[in-house]
Amino acid sequence: MTTVKEAIEAMIRERNVETGRVSGLSRQIIAQMNTLQTGILVNFESLPGINSSGEAHLNLYLQAGAREALRAALRSGIAQQPSLRMTINSAFRTVAQQHILYRVYQRDPKLIPLAAKPGNSNHEDGLAIDVNNYNAWKTYLLANGWQWLGGNDPVHFFNTNGRDDISTLGVKAFQSLWNRYNPTDRMTVDGNFGDQTAAKMDRCPIRGFSVVSVFRLGDNGAVVTRIQQHLTNVGFSVPINGVFDDKTKAAVIKFQLKQGLAADGDVGPMTLKLLGIRL
Ligand SMILES: [Zn+2]
Repeated sequence: MTTVKEAIEAMIRERNVETGRVSGLSRQIIAQMNTLQTGILVNFESLPGINSSGEAHLNLYLQAGAREALRAALRSGIAQQPSLRMTINSAFRTVAQQHILYRVYQRDPKLIPLAAKPGNSNHEDGLAIDVNNYNAWKTYLLANGWQWLGGNDPVHFFNTNGRDDISTLGVKAFQSLWNRYNPTDRMTVDGNFGDQTAAKMDRCPIRGFSVVSVFRLGDNGAVVTRIQQHLTNVGFSVPINGVFDDKTKAAVIKFQLKQGLAADGDVGPMTLKLLGIRL
């Protein structure tokens, strides 16, 4: 398990901001938004003409009205140029992703020169897309109700046709999701992303909430450091660097084999217990 805060620290250290690292948490937030307001966000990946890179940070969701306007723009573009495809850089952004961008912007404006506070970007309302090949699509988007603010942010288009105002829904979804998994540490579900909500976001697992914590290859943070220390203490020496790397995984597998556990290299509740680690 890696927390949002630990992931942010790693991104700043590595000079590489990758909001796809919270894709698990993001999926849970989107599902919770659709639970709180039934069907508010609809997937548009399957619209003819959409080219999806499948990158982890991409959430191909819009509100229904915007999706229909996108469908119309795609249809008119393809009618003119049958081979034309639209490549999306960014679409729906969850409050967790926006939190990362805002935190990095606060800490290191060289890395992220500008970011809206969570709850204040129209990518969070399911009304905006960033189109990589915007020159090819601009005419068709503008003819179908999409708006464009000009050359400062040329990839950015937004559509407010028949929209619902959901500016607080993403934050409410996160707050209620947190409360469900942290019944002894609840917060007010007010849709306001204040300091208390931000601090709790920092403590969230990037892969999303679950009943059990599992630490595995690619994780980083304080618990990984403890796992490495305990492995080293019991004779499976690894570099103690807080990064669950290949060497750590190999040592975990050796430890699990010795203990008669399923040797998958993932540190779940049993492996943690036998290493003597209590979270
Ligand atoms: Zn944009």
